Amino acid sequence: MKIFCVGRNYAEHAKELGNAIPEDPVIFMKPATALLPQHGSFYYPEFTKDLHYELELVLRIGKNGKNISENEAHAYYDAITVGIDFTARDVQAELKKKGLPWEKAKAWDHSAVLGEWVSLTDEMRHNPFQFSLKKNQQTVQKGDSTDMIFSFDKLVAHISTYFSLNIGDCIYTGTPAGVGACEVGDDLEGFLGNDKKFAVEIK
Ligand code: ZN
Repeated sequence: MKIFCVGRNYAEHAKELGNAIPEDPVIFMKPATALLPQHGSFYYPEFTKDLHYELELVLRIGKNGKNISENEAHAYYDAITVGIDFTARDVQAELKKKGLPWEKAKAWDHSAVLGEWVSLTDEMRHNPFQFSLKKNQQTVQKGDSTDMIFSFDKLVAHISTYFSLNIGDCIYTGTPAGVGACEVGDDLEGFLGNDKKFAVEIK
C-alpha cells in the first residue's frame, strides 16, 4: 500500500510556516513502514529535537484507478479517519533550505498515525468534516474540511494523474493551522467530530 500526503492544503497553515499558497496540490509520499501499528508504541526519534504533530483527515482508497476525473473521484474512496503526519520540523527546515526532498523529515518509521476507519455514507460525503487533536486533554488543533484549498475529489484526481491508486492506499489530506511540538510523555488523541479515533502516548 502507498501513503500519499498533501502539503499546504489549508491557507492558515501555509501562512504559519511562511509558505505561499500553492497553485497545484503539493504531494509527497511515505512508505508502508511509516505506519504506526495500532496499539504500537511511539518513540520520540533520536534524529530530531523538534517533533511536530500535524492532525489530518485521511481517506482510504476503495477502488483501483488511474487518471480519475474530479467528477468520478468520489467513487474511489470509501472511508475516512483522522491521523497524524508526524514531522521532524528541524530536519524539514534544513532540507527545505537546501532544496532537498522531505523524506528524512516526514517518511521515517512510524511517522504516520492512523485512526480507526469510518465507512463513508452518501450523507457524510455531502457534509463538512470537523476534526481535532487533544494533547494532554487540551485541544491544540482544530480543522474543518471546508477550509481545504483542494477538495478530496480534486486531490484524488490530481494524484491519479501521476500515480495509480490502489485499494488500501491512504491519502493524508493536509493539516490545518495549529501544528506544534510534542515531548516525551505527551498523550495525543485524535477526534473525527466527537468520536475519538486514536490515542498515542509519546515514549
Ligand atoms: Zn502534513
